Amino acid sequence: MIYLDNSATTHIDEEILDAMLPWMRDFFGNPSSAYALGRKARVAIEEAREEIAASMNAHPAELLFTSGGTEANNAILKSCCIESGLTNALAISAIEHHAVSHPSEWLAVQGFTVKILGVDSLGIVEQHWYEALPSENTLISIMQANNETGVIQQIDTIRAMIPEQSFIHTDAVQSFGKIPIDVQQLGIDFLSVSAHKIHGPKGIGAMYIRKGIDFKSHQHGGGQERNRRAGTESPALIVGFQIAVRNAIREMESRHQHMRSLQLLMRSLLKEHIPQARINTPENPASSLPSIMNVSFQHINDGEAILQLMDMAGIAVSNGSACVSGSQQPSHVLKALGLSDQEAKAAVRFSFSKDNTEEEITEAVLELKHIIASLS
Ligand code: PLP
Repeated sequence: MIYLDNSATTHIDEEILDAMLPWMRDFFGNPSSAYALGRKARVAIEEAREEIAASMNAHPAELLFTSGGTEANNAILKSCCIESGLTNALAISAIEHHAVSHPSEWLAVQGFTVKILGVDSLGIVEQHWYEALPSENTLISIMQANNETGVIQQIDTIRAMIPEQSFIHTDAVQSFGKIPIDVQQLGIDFLSVSAHKIHGPKGIGAMYIRKGIDFKSHQHGGGQERNRRAGTESPALIVGFQIAVRNAIREMESRHQHMRSLQLLMRSLLKEHIPQARINTPENPASSLPSIMNVSFQHINDGEAILQLMDMAGIAVSNGSACVSGSQQPSHVLKALGLSDQEAKAAVRFSFSKDNTEEEITEAVLELKHIIASLS
């Protein structure tokens, strides 16, 4: 199989799996227990917190572990509006992942104001939206990199454009470990990250909450995570997350270059072999992740068939968000860029990792060429 769906999830590294196993098999203590077995787990968790926080220039006390990006996004948005009472208005981009857009829709039903900020044809939020934001304490949630097209928003520039009293959250699930993140330099209040997009385990992520913010737990129960996220922590998942982050930071430059060269190769092969393909990933490297290439086809009626035929050919790709895949709905991200319903359904997202090769990219494009010809 050729696996080109690394934005959905990545293969866990063997080294990470090996490091996790003793925390399930041998050192299984509850990190809240006072005896030695529990204390050992607590030490491992706090060491991981320090390392992951340092990777984004945060203080360890500013980092809380969650079950992943979805929980982090939900907890931040809902707690800001409800439990913490920091705001009664949200502003989100039109291309947010459902883990931000769906909680926002739910909050709108509860009576909170939710403003959707439109994007240009590249997927970048149009500046006039920021200039028109009200000066009260709005929570602005803009993803750093989009999961379908890879488009990057300049979060530090956005911070400088929005009213000082507003809070800013960025969903960095796709960008974390792939581009440098410094929460101080970005000037953000909240951030969400996840381990399984960087060769770590599924079911673990974290949220950054800037020091000084009176964040009250969205999830109630025990007093874990300084009373801000109840539930027994998983030392195995947290240690796996720590090593995934360590490796991603250490190899960021080389992984970035490798994936960028695969992306460039794919772009030139697409132009040569499938000139009718519309490329939805920005060409400017400063505006796109190196790991994603999104293409769509105006003249194909059955978009789902492209993915099925690719699957039959042994190539794993998707049309964007795993949650959208299979539901036959046009992608809300591609529609926001101005694509028609048909074009937004007939889309393929290729997403790369450090483990992909040039041969795989070439084979995938040639197979796609064959499939598009057969469906045309
Ligand atoms: N946000 C973005 C941008 C994503 O791409 C994803 C997963 O695809 C999520 C949030 C959800 O993260 P998790 O799978 O860790 O819940």
